[in-house]
Amino acid sequence: MDYDVKGNLREVIATLPDNVRLVAISKYHPVEYLKAAYDEGQRIFGESHVQELDRKVGEMPGDVVWHFIGHLQTNKVKYIAPYISMIEAVDSLKLMQEIQKQAAKHERVIDILLELHIAEESTKYGLTLDACRSLLAEGKWREMPNVRICGLMMMASFTDDEDQIRREFTTAANFFDEVKSTYFADAEHFRERSWGMSDDYPIAIECRSTMVRVGTKIFGPRVY
Ligand SMILES: *Cc1c(COP(=O)(O)O)cnc(C)c1O
Repeated sequence: MDYDVKGNLREVIATLPDNVRLVAISKYHPVEYLKAAYDEGQRIFGESHVQELDRKVGEMPGDVVWHFIGHLQTNKVKYIAPYISMIEAVDSLKLMQEIQKQAAKHERVIDILLELHIAEESTKYGLTLDACRSLLAEGKWREMPNVRICGLMMMASFTDDEDQIRREFTTAANFFDEVKSTYFADAEHFRERSWGMSDDYPIAIECRSTMVRVGTKIFGPRVY
């Protein structure tokens, strides 16, 4: 292994406050790297491709907590429904309904986060704040006993402008408060704010992140 996964992991963890959890983003990295992180105590891993995730689940110990962090096509939910703990980037009612269907089939509850689109980049993915408001106001999610909405997820713009990154995280944090008080005031499970990646997680933590998704800083550059 030409990358000091254990050392990097220790370094990242040392900077995290107690209330912030680390999702180790292991996409495109070989399973030996995941095992090194596992040996160092890491249990939450994030992947973004269904086939790769499926393969790694078979090769890693059973107590790993898997998060799906990428864009998930509805027709692929069935493959990960038996084991996935959290689907982080849910941005449509249709996807929620499919998760409900597949989770029910396996008699499980699957945790999800709603993905927000706040960054300036144009991407197809993520809900605008207004779209997220509408989705929640519509109320169909209340009829999904096997889907548990645990919070929000977002990615900041890919930029060196720290003020802009901070503004985007702050927008997300304020929106979290709005959604929490409007729909989930009594729901203890609605508490996750998933923002912060290798380059911006210290800023994310200042902006109330509860879950950082760090890949490169632990495992090195991805080999595509
Ligand atoms: C790849 C990825 C990450 C990790 O990015 P790094 O810059 O390698 O830390 C975090 N979140 C999402 C959604 C990703 O796709």
